[in-house]
Amino acid sequence: MMDGGFRFSLALSVGVLKENFPSERRVAIVPRVIDLLKKSQVEAWIEAGAGLESGFPDADYESRGAHVTNAAEVLRNATILLHVRVPEQPNVKPDDLVIGLCDPLSDPALVSRYAQARATLFSMELVPRTTRAQSMDVLSSMASIGGYKAVLIAANALPRMFPMMTTAAGSIAPAKVLVIGAGVAGLQAIATSRRLGAVVSGYDVRAAVKEQIESLGAKFVQIDLGGAKGDGEGGYAKALDEDTIRRQREQMALVMKEQDVVITTAAVPGRKAPLLVTKEMVHAMQPGSVIVDLAAERGGNCELTRAGEDVVERGVTILGPVNVPATVPYHASQMYARNIATFLKNMIAKDGSLNIDMNDEITRETLVTRGGEVVNPRVQALLNVNA
Ligand code: NAD
Repeated sequence: MMDGGFRFSLALSVGVLKENFPSERRVAIVPRVIDLLKKSQVEAWIEAGAGLESGFPDADYESRGAHVTNAAEVLRNATILLHVRVPEQPNVKPDDLVIGLCDPLSDPALVSRYAQARATLFSMELVPRTTRAQSMDVLSSMASIGGYKAVLIAANALPRMFPMMTTAAGSIAPAKVLVIGAGVAGLQAIATSRRLGAVVSGYDVRAAVKEQIESLGAKFVQIDLGGAKGDGEGGYAKALDEDTIRRQREQMALVMKEQDVVITTAAVPGRKAPLLVTKEMVHAMQPGSVIVDLAAERGGNCELTRAGEDVVERGVTILGPVNVPATVPYHASQMYARNIATFLKNMIAKDGSLNIDMNDEITRETLVTRGGEVVNPRVQALLNVNA
């Protein structure tokens, strides 16, 4: 056994319950992934109806060899609970493993409750952005879906069409779309807008993305930040100071005036989303334009965004959709299930025992609670600040 790690050699069994978060339609495991678990000698216990809203009926799980039963039986038999969203209130036995999205850097109170319940909790948000962990990277899978869907949401609300059309009734100019924040979601939004025939521009504070934006056939918006650099650690952006953000907004306002659609996705890990679009910038846009703020759940990139609501200000519609991946539950669950099963497999030794190896970067960085304690230093720091 490695330093600080631990190992269980009992037969492993995972449990999947119906998600209880409002509007959550995804499921943590899809039938196809049961085969992958079986190869690692892991049994699956699924609550009846857990996959229904995402398009996976009970019979499909059963035909792959999973036990489909009621929630109490799942909880009694499973020692590893797989969730999309880890429930706010723990319903676990001591030493159960719980794996899922639990937003530990924004919701450390949830983490504390799992520590009190003596569960071993892993956060899928904390999977490192490394090559080895790519197949477990839930943030990337879900961001791809969010970026795609944001464009459909915008197209649906826009009183114009996206593609150029030449008809007997005259020619129609293509819609102009600006995507601010060209990470995983933003690049997917650019690609989707292009597929729908829009003229697309993209902007990001990280200079490295210029090439990626251009390779998708979009124009890179150049903004002079007065020498400030937006590249932070691990390929993420770093927060800019207020002066630089003001500079950014002034130049962005001129670009935004020309757009029919603006999709914002800007985020900085562990922080509130940067405010990039002010009320004045919205007022300068043409009536009928649409803003889709994918950062709505993190406070929004637009001053007027209200999470989960549609706002109309001087003819401009500002949409703040929340939990967007859950609106494409079939494919979101398929991708999520693959990510979480690969993550679990990484902790299963060849002999089928669970090996929580603290020398493994993926295990170490995602482990949040264990033995009644919060063990993740990033979450510990937050809890100390909030205490
Ligand atoms: P994210 O969700 O944290 O942020 C979205 C985008 O907003 C980022 O591109 C960021 O640069 C941008 N942003 C932040 N502040 C901004 C501002 N003030 N103005 C404009 N844009 C701003 O990012 P993400 O989608 O999770 O991806 C972050 C990085 O991680 C990317 O470089 C991506 O390619 C990389 N990544 C690497 C791997 C891997 O190596 N396995 C996997 C996924 C992502």
